[in-house]
Amino acid sequence: MSGRRDAHTIVAHDAYDGRHYGAVHTPVYDTSLFAFPTVADMDRADGDTGSFIYSRGNNPTVRALECKLAELEGGEDARCFATGMGAISAAVLASVQAGDHIVCVDQAYGPARRLIGDYVRRFGVEADFVDGADVAAIEAAYRPNTKLLYLESPTSLMFELQDLSVCAASARARGIRTIVDNTWASPVFQRPLELGIDLVVHSLTKYVGGHSDALGGVAIGSAAAIAALSGRELVLLGAVMLPQTAALLHRGLRTLPLRMERHQAGGLAVAAYLESLPFVDRVHCPGLASHPQHALARAQMSGCGGLLSFEAGADRERLARFVDALRCFRIGFSWGGYESLVSLQEGRRSTPRQGVPVVRLHIGLESPDELIGDLAQAFRAAGFVAADARGESAGGGGANGD
Ligand SMILES: *Cc1c(COP(=O)(O)O)cnc(C)c1O
Repeated sequence: MSGRRDAHTIVAHDAYDGRHYGAVHTPVYDTSLFAFPTVADMDRADGDTGSFIYSRGNNPTVRALECKLAELEGGEDARCFATGMGAISAAVLASVQAGDHIVCVDQAYGPARRLIGDYVRRFGVEADFVDGADVAAIEAAYRPNTKLLYLESPTSLMFELQDLSVCAASARARGIRTIVDNTWASPVFQRPLELGIDLVVHSLTKYVGGHSDALGGVAIGSAAAIAALSGRELVLLGAVMLPQTAALLHRGLRTLPLRMERHQAGGLAVAAYLESLPFVDRVHCPGLASHPQHALARAQMSGCGGLLSFEAGADRERLARFVDALRCFRIGFSWGGYESLVSLQEGRRSTPRQGVPVVRLHIGLESPDELIGDLAQAFRAAGFVAADARGESAGGGGANGD
């Protein structure tokens, strides 16, 4: 292939495929198995080289999505899973064995952190957690038996970054595999494989699906790494993606680059608004010039997701009143869909290491001005003073309905 195709083109273009009567969108192969005309054909079939035999292994609808995700990330191959955690657990288990040691960023997604710090312990695998913003701390945590460096950049509550090319080079020099959870930036804004990372994992449940109607995950990397994980963890643990789900996620993927631009614009507008408020202590958003790692964000990402968080005092009750007063943000975990979401969580700052109440906002596809107006009226309702002029002029509350 001549050069890299643009993400907008990759998601929109499917080559003509005579097996599907020229259908422009891959049909749903709603089948558990594939039958053979003769024993000789059955003997020749090889799931490892892509024959369709049984849908816990290979299915054409899932395969179409995998090929497209691999191209978007700049990887040689990809395998999809039932959930993001299905992909993460497969990728981690494929990388270690008894006696090995993992170094993991402290602020990694909670269940991934539990898998690495707790669950794999029963198989004789140990882990240490480090401040991912500090490459020296990562290197200091390496032991002779370290086999995996698990990263998530940015993290999805406090939005701390790791320098991916530096981490990848330092791990590779020691024979340590690197995995990055790239869910926040999506392949539209960050391609860790091109920075030397070995495996990328995503929760497709978030931006890629984009419509809050499907769960999925993917692992992407070299053909050899994906083949190993595909023959063992995918097929043996069995957390495979259903063809119906693959069709939904593939439909979501068609508009991913467009939606990411909108999430980015809305997220930056809301972040700038929050930063202008005197009672907001900190806004955690790598796209803001005030983010301590903004320069790194600009260097290794080409854009910014629309998930961000902020701190406004330590009074959790008052923050809960603020959250309850919002009308345009649904209260819920998860993110990445068309709808704006809010959650009140316990954040942990790496430096100084302390717990703080953090409001996390997912900026959906609604009008940023109306979202800002809603935030302004909720701040007033919760007794935060001095809502800024922009929030007032956007109409305060009430403009948005429920
Ligand atoms: C949601 C999420 C996951 C897990 O994905 P599921 O599809 O829910 O299993 C992993 N990493 C990040 C950053 C997430 O936000």
